[in-house]
Amino acid sequence: MINFSDMEKIDRNVYVSKETSNSDKEHLLTIINNSKNRVENLCGSVEADPVFVICNSHEDYTNFGMYKVDGLTVIYPFETFVIISPDGINENVISHEICHAELYERIGFFDDDEIPLWFHEGLASLVSHNQPKSFDGIKKIWNKRSKNGRVRIDLNEIASYDGFYGSPAILDLPYWRAALEVSRWYKISGKEGLLELVTSIKSNKDFESSYIMIEEKNLK
Ligand SMILES: [Zn+2]
Repeated sequence: MINFSDMEKIDRNVYVSKETSNSDKEHLLTIINNSKNRVENLCGSVEADPVFVICNSHEDYTNFGMYKVDGLTVIYPFETFVIISPDGINENVISHEICHAELYERIGFFDDDEIPLWFHEGLASLVSHNQPKSFDGIKKIWNKRSKNGRVRIDLNEIASYDGFYGSPAILDLPYWRAALEVSRWYKISGKEGLLELVTSIKSNKDFESSYIMIEEKNLK
């Protein structure tokens, strides 16, 4: 569990390392606010209310059991934590994590398994850039990274935790592959489609048929 004893509370649900300067604290609250705005643009509103744990020191970060990644969203049935490393204190990383928290919030702890990881990461990748990334923009990047399609990643290969994060040889390619697919779908289905997908899964329909059905409906 999260132990806040070494952290300072600077706002409701925002904890920082004790050595954080006042100007950094203020800047941080602005970053969180701007990051929420990015997610609001994507999802229509922000329903998630995660607890932010912003580590200004690597020591604090490792104390929370973190390493390697710039940020992580940790979910429990009644609470979600967004834990950020010293390298992740920026809008790109924090928006990405809030987007994960948002999808968890809307789907619910117990239905989250229904969502393939490529959808979670693909959706979060749509807010983790300075410029909002459209399908066309991501396609250009993907073509370059995949050597014009010579590198192939099947979505089924990156649906599970091990499949998505398991291959260090391909670095961030799964993120771009996931972003390519989700931006393609989002361009057709839009915000409304995203909300419909959530509702559909919450009423016990499976992800895949809901995903396809919503896209087909919006293509008409
Ligand atoms: Zn992510």
